[in-house]
Amino acid sequence: MGRRNPDRIPISQRRGMCETVGDMIRQGWDVHSRCMTCGTLFRVNLRIIAQVKGADFSIWNRKNRCRRLGCVGHVEFHGRAPEMSWHEVLSAPD
Ligand SMILES: [Zn+2]
Repeated sequence: MGRRNPDRIPISQRRGMCETVGDMIRQGWDVHSRCMTCGTLFRVNLRIIAQVKGADFSIWNRKNRCRRLGCVGHVEFHGRAPEMSWHEVLSAPD
């Protein structure tokens, strides 16, 4: 009560400080993706994304195809900054 709690920062407010995968790597974010159809969790390697797409690439609001064989669903990205207690969907107004 009255204590400053970083978990209470809405994830949309964090976006300005961690728009790109380069920002997220510097700040030590942990990211995974989860299929909204089959529920499969995928580990997300930010460094590989930065190598392939560039450090300025953003995964906010992104919904990629599920990589599980036979699944036609889409995944959404969940991220956690070091001071956050759990992962939250990387969704915020553009
Ligand atoms: Zn799936």
